[in-house]
Order: sequence, then C-alpha cells, then structure tokens
Amino acid sequence: MSLRLYNTLTRAKEDFEPLEDGKVRMYTCGPTVYNFAHIGNLRSYIFADVLRRTLEYCGYEAPLVMNVTDVGHLTSDSDSGEDKMEKQAQNSGMDIWEIARYYEDIFFNDLDALNIKQPAVKCRATEHIDDMIALVEKLIERGHAYETAQAVYFDITTFPTYTQLSRQSLEDKITAARDEVQEDPEKRNPVDFALWFKAVGRFENHIMRWESPWGVGFPGWHIECSAMSMKYLGETLDIHTGGEDHIWVHHPNEIAQSEGATGKKFVRFWMHGAFLVVGDLSGGDEERRMGKSEGNFVRLQTLIDRGYDPLAYRYACLMAHYRTKLKFTWDSMDAAASGYSSLKDFVSRATQIGGDEQPWVEEYRKKFEDAITDDLNMPMAMAAVNELVREAEKRREYGVVDALCDFDRVLGLNLHEAAEQASSVDSDVEALIKEREEARASRNWARADEIRTELSDRGIALEDTVSGTLWRRL
Ligand code: AMP
Ligand code: ZN
Repeated sequence: MSLRLYNTLTRAKEDFEPLEDGKVRMYTCGPTVYNFAHIGNLRSYIFADVLRRTLEYCGYEAPLVMNVTDVGHLTSDSDSGEDKMEKQAQNSGMDIWEIARYYEDIFFNDLDALNIKQPAVKCRATEHIDDMIALVEKLIERGHAYETAQAVYFDITTFPTYTQLSRQSLEDKITAARDEVQEDPEKRNPVDFALWFKAVGRFENHIMRWESPWGVGFPGWHIECSAMSMKYLGETLDIHTGGEDHIWVHHPNEIAQSEGATGKKFVRFWMHGAFLVVGDLSGGDEERRMGKSEGNFVRLQTLIDRGYDPLAYRYACLMAHYRTKLKFTWDSMDAAASGYSSLKDFVSRATQIGGDEQPWVEEYRKKFEDAITDDLNMPMAMAAVNELVREAEKRREYGVVDALCDFDRVLGLNLHEAAEQASSVDSDVEALIKEREEARASRNWARADEIRTELSDRGIALEDTVSGTLWRRL
C-alpha cells in the first residue's frame, strides 16, 4: 500500500517511505502537565494516533516516542513570562512535582479513554536533564550558542535555514520580537531563544533547578524535544507531529537545536494538526481557539459528565480532516454521538444476522484504503464506512463486520467490542428471545410483551426485523 502524507516543510503531499525498512521513527510533542489537557489538545493526539494506526495498517511498525513537559515552560513561547508549573503550584497549593504527576496521570488516562495507543516511550523532561545539558554543550562547541549572565541562548544568525519550516521572514520575526519585553540586555538578537536559564534575577527562586556547566538553573522548553527525540530515535526522524501552533516557534527551534548539533537533517516529514476552535458555548458566534490559558476549555471529563461516550468525541474528530480546523459545539457533539451509536448498533445487528462477505464489499475496502493512504483523509474513509453500511442494508447482506473491524484498526472506535457483545448474549436472554418468537407465532401477545418488558428491565432492547428478532444493549 503506498502512502502519501502532507509535509509542512515542503507544503506538499509526498510519498512516504521510512528510512529503515518496515519501521517508522515517529515523535509527537507531548503535554505540558501544569493543567488538564483540553479536548483541543486531545484532538492533536487523536490525529497522531490515526497516523500511527494508518502506518501500522500499511504494515509498518511505528513505536511512538512522546515527551512530557514537566519543567520550564514559560507563559509565553518566547522567553518572557512566568513558569507555568510554578504559577499553578502557587495557585493550587500543591507541590510542583505533585502537580506534574497528577496532570500526567490524568492525561494518559484520557488517552486510554479515547483509544489512543500509549506511546512506546514516554519521556519526562525532568529525567533527561543530562541529555539536554550535553546537547547545549555541543551547540556551544559548534558555535551555535552563547552564554550571558542570565542564560545560554541559541544564536539564530548561525543557522541560515531557521525560517524554512515557518516560511516567515526573519526580519518580520525580529521586528515582532523587538516589541516583546526583552528580559536580558546581553541577548544578541531578539529572536535568539534560551537553551538554559540560570537561577538568577527573575528566576532566582525557581523551584525546579539542576547543576550545569553554566551554574544552577533549568532548561529552556524547546531543548527537551531535540534531546529526547534524538536519544530514542536517532539523529534523523521519519515523522514529527504536533499542533499547528508549533510551526512558528517550537518546531523551528527544535530544528535549529538538532541540526545545529548534528549537521544532519532532523526530521523528514513534519506533520501538524489544525486546531479545535470553540464557538461561544453559550450561544453567540464568536470563534476562538480552545486554549489552556484562554479559560474556555472543555475537558474529556466534562463530556463524560454530560453523558457522552469519549469515543463519540473521537468519532467527531474523524469526521473532519486533520488539517482543517474543527469547530466544537454541543450540537456537533450530539450529532457525533448519534452517528457513533448508529454505527455500533449496525455492527451489533449485522453480527446477529451474520452472513459471508460478498464480492461487492471489496470496493469499499478499496475506498477506505485509498482514503486513509491519501494523507489520512478520514472524512472520505468515514464516508466509505457509511456507504458500506447503507449498501449492506439495501442488499440485506450483512457479511460486512470483518471489513468494519479491519477498518477499526485505524478508526479505533471499538467496533469489534460491539461485535463481540452481540455474539456473546447470555443463554437465558437467548432463551427468552426464542420463547417470545414462539409466543408471537402463536399470537400470545401478552406473553410476548411480558418478555419484552423483562428484557428491557435488564437493559436489552428488541427489534423485530425481516431477518428475525434482534437485540441491542440500551
Ligand atoms: P500543550 O500541552 O499546551 O503543549 O499542548 C499539547 C498539544 O496540543 C500541542 O501539540 C499543541 O499544539 C496542541 N494544541 C493546543 N491547543 C490546541 C487546540 N485548540 N486544538 C488542537 N490542538 C491544540
Ligand atoms: Zn516538542
């Protein structure tokens, strides 16, 4: 199966082959664990998961590496502002290390709830400080970094391809950076970014701190991704993903740090997920990105509390292409929940009716595979799924469950569970359904209704169809 992926670096779809036969070296920027992840963050991880599952569907191994930012992320992507973790510690009264572990656990539980496969390697920034220090030393050695009284910076004038990914003009970036508060008078260029902060001045009381060749301090937040991705995946990665906001600061910085240190290409395919935006959730037509600091965030738990299955949110994300923004509203959530529940009901019914796969199903397998391998076109893939369902209903040929379960290796909607449940009805329920069919045949409507009520009390609904009586869990 040949796979085409959109590469942000070239702004084009390209044929994808990994460097090493059969194995894809893939890295995803992980969460900053000073607060809950919101469903916008989770959209980015659903995108990375669909990518990983598509790679696996195509026969590759794709053991994902993901970092956990548990240190040193300032409130601004450039080097101004406070440390987000320390700010949260002051606000919540929790110890800063407790905060990091608390939100990290919740984040990985959210991934499970959304059927996002856990990364093969999860690496915490705080456990890789030595790797970061070694990388900064290498950058100084190679003339890409310099030390001031406050910090160590990457000197962007030593890296001419700095704006290749963002396609911004360096002059514009410099002008914009000049307008920001410059905390360090010794910084050579306003766009230079910190690799290491010293625990002096505004960071004198910084709680998380480590010894380094430049005195006690803590790492800048971009260096962790370069250090950890190369540690676990080698100097050149096949694919690196993240949200689209990283195209302008974080990822250009990762490239500068990694390529500055190794002289080799860092990432072959850069892939970015578009944002989840929020309509005004209480009416109105304002539209903003969902953000931790915007105060408009919806957590996965919020959806669960409102009675939604977390996978209905995954379904909603699959209905939009990963490179288009997705607007979140409660109406769109309802539509996704109902689409998801009809799909599961269909799988349950089709499993009970049974039948062999017919040759016409092949056309839909091909449609599905063409869609996923064309830069993860999930809306097209979902259209293939829904057309397959309609065709099965029209023909009354229900041997399509195997195909749907195959597709579900990429969709991750637990369709196989719906199929397993449907084929594992308790024997006493089966006996009651049979008894009801006999009662109906002998026009004993009272007994038939009694059985329907009894099953309904046990959470099982019945449907009388031309193919016999089918059941589903309520
Ligand atoms: P953070 O924990 O803030 O570092 O964000 C984790 C991931 O979520 C990053 O890849 C961000 O680019 C991504 N992200 C942040 N906000 C959104 C959003 N509204 N929609 C989609 N992805 C987002
Ligand atoms: Zn990163």
